[in-house]
Amino acid sequence: MLTCPARLPMMVDVKSARTPAGELVMLVDEAARLVRDPQRRVALARQGLERAAALGDEVARVRCTAMVTEFTARHGQPVDALPTALSLVGEADALGDPLAIAQAHHTAAMCLHLLDCVPESMEHGHEALEAYRAAGDAYGEGRVLSLVATLWAEMGDRHQALELFEQAHDLFLACADPSGAATMLAMMADGQREIGDPVAAAGTCERALRLFGTAGMPVDAQRAMTAYAQVLADLHRLEEAERWLDRAADHNRLPGGAVANQGYEVNRLLVLVRTVLNPSARWDAARETLERVIGLAGALHSQRSGAQAESLLAEVLHATGDDAGAYQHLLRCRELADAAAHGAHDRRIQALRVRFEVAQAQREAAQYRRQTEAQAAIIAELEQARATLAGQMADLQRLNEEVLHLSRTDPLTGIANRRRVTEYLTDLSKINQRYGAPPVAVALFDVDKFKHVNDRYGHEAGDRVLVALSRLMADHLRVTDLPARLGGDEFVIVMPGISLDGAMRACHRLLEAVRGYPWEQITPGLAVRISIGVADGSGLTDPDEMLRNADTALYRAKEAGRDAVMAGSP
Ligand code: GH3
Ligand code: MG
Repeated sequence: MLTCPARLPMMVDVKSARTPAGELVMLVDEAARLVRDPQRRVALARQGLERAAALGDEVARVRCTAMVTEFTARHGQPVDALPTALSLVGEADALGDPLAIAQAHHTAAMCLHLLDCVPESMEHGHEALEAYRAAGDAYGEGRVLSLVATLWAEMGDRHQALELFEQAHDLFLACADPSGAATMLAMMADGQREIGDPVAAAGTCERALRLFGTAGMPVDAQRAMTAYAQVLADLHRLEEAERWLDRAADHNRLPGGAVANQGYEVNRLLVLVRTVLNPSARWDAARETLERVIGLAGALHSQRSGAQAESLLAEVLHATGDDAGAYQHLLRCRELADAAAHGAHDRRIQALRVRFEVAQAQREAAQYRRQTEAQAAIIAELEQARATLAGQMADLQRLNEEVLHLSRTDPLTGIANRRRVTEYLTDLSKINQRYGAPPVAVALFDVDKFKHVNDRYGHEAGDRVLVALSRLMADHLRVTDLPARLGGDEFVIVMPGISLDGAMRACHRLLEAVRGYPWEQITPGLAVRISIGVADGSGLTDPDEMLRNADTALYRAKEAGRDAVMAGSP
């Protein structure tokens, strides 16, 4: 019967799995637990994986991949599943999600167990246990405990195994999975038989059978029946043992009568021969059964079962006087046992190589990640330094421009200073030399009796007069003219492209503007006048000479009584 165990409830509250991806994984996990058919389980986990990928949720992806891998390992080739399982461990650890960690380690433990790597499987089993406990998943914890218990049994510590099977039984019961709990009891019974306590084993089998009964006697119940039969045989109750083995066979049948689980059947038949048929000397039945077992074991590639069957068959042949036949089967038994041991050895070596390769790849990936991170950090640092430097360069350039501007600007009036005028005149004279002599005029003016202004109205009023005059100049000049303050109360205007006459007219207009300016606004009673000397600088190459000529004209304007414009000769 490939059906779900009856009444296995939803163990996880889906509402507590906040995100849609979390809900998805829980539903897939639950559904996978309910479905017994391995093919349908893998299909279910694959669908979950596709949805998880579509949702872009890493934890859901890792968990669903773990499920697919676990089923592939159990029902396909564990060695193919191993690299994925081991990589998932790394991914889950990096994600830090306890359930993802638990499932990844659980899957790795399962693969390694199937590949005869008992201590390695144990390591992952313990990690999975811890993570399931941290996540509060009692069902997962029960499943891993059952695996870890099996590992202890394989390592020969039966007592530790019994204790863990008991704990797993309690967890399954707490999770309302009587079938799971009963299976644990059947495993315990095997252990109790092996440590030589058939009475305890019988009690445990009876408990297991009662529990399986409450779960509707699923296929797995045949395991308890087989165990019980062995115990009864140990207690010399052969007839009862045979009845239970018949019942076990009935339980392992599909509705049409075919055997549901061939592995269980092989085991049951071996128990039947070992505990009932051979001890009661039913040699014909034993031989017939063993020949079936040898066929089944061959089909299942189970060399261990094959070896056991061959050994029992040798016993049967010896008992019936066919020593030559017995010898042949003993040889076959040894051959199969050797092949089984070699197979286990090869699987173990192959698994350890995969483990080493995955670890190596993970180390390299981590190193690459570290290098890339370090490079990125260096690049970021360089970029930062470059940005800082660019900022400093820009600041420096601004400062330079400011310094340059200040060095050519009169601080009081904000117009050009003597240095700027000298440069400008030098440039003009260079242009004159190169392109002939376009006209240029230089006008120099000086405030009349400025000492008096300062003395009478104060130095501050004097300053305001100087500022007002610089504005007046700017307002009355062409854009190409350069007004500047040479110092004190002395100003100059360089007028390129203008003849002496034109410059005279401009200076008269400026003189008028000064006369008409509302000086009283600065301070009552104030009146300011200026004297201007204008010179034609055309053809001159020495800026000082241009200024000297204008100065001579200015002197003459002062001589002539001030408040006047005079032209100087070149
Ligand atoms: P003149 O008509 O002959 O030019 O007589 P003046 O009194 O103007 O004599 P001069 O041009 O030689 O005097 C310039 C005065 O300008 C001298 C100084 O007290 C004043 N002065 C120079 N620089 C400044 C300044 O920055 N602010 C003020 N308020 N006064 C200044
Ligand atoms: Mg003056």
